[in-house]
Amino acid sequence: MKFGGTSVGSPSALQQSAAIVKKYEQEWEHVVVVVSAMTGVTDMLLTAAENAERGDEASYTAVIDALHLRHTETINAMILNSSDRENLHNQISQLMDDLRTYCRSIQVMGEITPRGLDTIAPLGERMNARLFSTLLNQANVASQPVEASSLIITDANFTNAMPIMDLTRERVKEKLMPVLDQGITPVVTGFTGATEKGVLTTLGRGGSDFTAAILGDCLNAQEVWTWTDVNGVMTADPRIVPEAKALPELSYSEVSELAYFGAKVLHPKTIRPIIERGIPLWVKNTFNPDFPGTCISGQYHRPNGLLTAITSIRKLSIINVEGRGMLGVPGIAARTFSAVARQGASVLMISQSSSEQSICFVIPSKSTAQVIQSIEAEVALELLRGDIDRVWAREDIEIVTVIGAGMRETPGVSARIFGALGNAEINVLAIAMGSSEFSISLVVSSKDANKAVQAIHSAVIEKKST
Ligand code: ASP
Ligand code: MG
Repeated sequence: MKFGGTSVGSPSALQQSAAIVKKYEQEWEHVVVVVSAMTGVTDMLLTAAENAERGDEASYTAVIDALHLRHTETINAMILNSSDRENLHNQISQLMDDLRTYCRSIQVMGEITPRGLDTIAPLGERMNARLFSTLLNQANVASQPVEASSLIITDANFTNAMPIMDLTRERVKEKLMPVLDQGITPVVTGFTGATEKGVLTTLGRGGSDFTAAILGDCLNAQEVWTWTDVNGVMTADPRIVPEAKALPELSYSEVSELAYFGAKVLHPKTIRPIIERGIPLWVKNTFNPDFPGTCISGQYHRPNGLLTAITSIRKLSIINVEGRGMLGVPGIAARTFSAVARQGASVLMISQSSSEQSICFVIPSKSTAQVIQSIEAEVALELLRGDIDRVWAREDIEIVTVIGAGMRETPGVSARIFGALGNAEINVLAIAMGSSEFSISLVVSSKDANKAVQAIHSAVIEKKST
């Protein structure tokens, strides 16, 4: 069971999460707990490191004090006996002293390396594993905090390391299995690992899910549950669509598509280890623990025509390269996209009309000016000759994506989507359908985006989904 930031972000959330573990620890043979840092803590740690790099001692000291205070107050608000409380206070003070030392050395060097960041970033998880484990002991669940750096062996790609699975499997067998065999519930630090030589690494932001999946794989777990603060993966962002519902089931490809199109769900990379082994992954709500949640599996086949979810990506621009002279001229698209790539901008969607009189594609709005300049330089000659009329951007647009493995080989899905948009009088600026056929994406102006999401949700998701 992995508990995310909000599930361990306050004294009451921690107590609630500990109660969940206690309940299942009695029902299941073994439970392994993975914890995130408290909400916002990883960001604060990284801010402290940046402040130190700039030599801003006052700022990093303030951040460290705030971190220390938040954990101290949490410990004080937890129901604990006095020796456990004191013990925890000492451990947190020690870790915060370490942080001060790290920041001081960064300040002296005037530089922070990725390796240095990976020493600092896991401190939130390291503190929380201690808090959580103490709470479990207090609740008569024998528990012990475990540093993932002793279990998860990774490459040295700091800040985004990948596990070396055979080495990790050995470590888990050697170090974690005996703990379970003694009837102890380990609380493992999420997000982090270490190189073979023992240098701390992190698995990328949001990496605690990855930790849970890696351990689930190595332990051959029956199930992996990740606890969060919503009822599962939702059909849409509930802030935009109040009627959004949690999906009972989701396939791995749908998760991938959702994540790609900006929905804040599990990162597909992080859950692959267990999905490939056929271990189901449940997303559940810490604050509504009896709700079944969403089950993600590799096998799920959504019935034909059913759509799963809708999501949108904000802060985008659509770039248009237009001109009659592009007709039948090979190489324009290739040159256009190399010019975009040179600016390091990632292209989220492409469409070309079959008359070949325009190419349009979507990029993050922050790269707009630089991408246009780069393309104009690349096609300077064609512009001069009038083969290309202009390169221009429409700003303030969003991509709205409708996802569902059930749209595969099902006619009529797009008709329903566009019918809904037509009825809502929303103008669609561009369309693309991924060849995976798990999604249809359309571009609308930002002012219409929420309305588009609502219209599609009520016309094709609410009506059809289970
Ligand atoms: N605390 C880490 C982060 O914020 C990892 C996680 O929460 O999954 O990125
Ligand atoms: Mg998190």
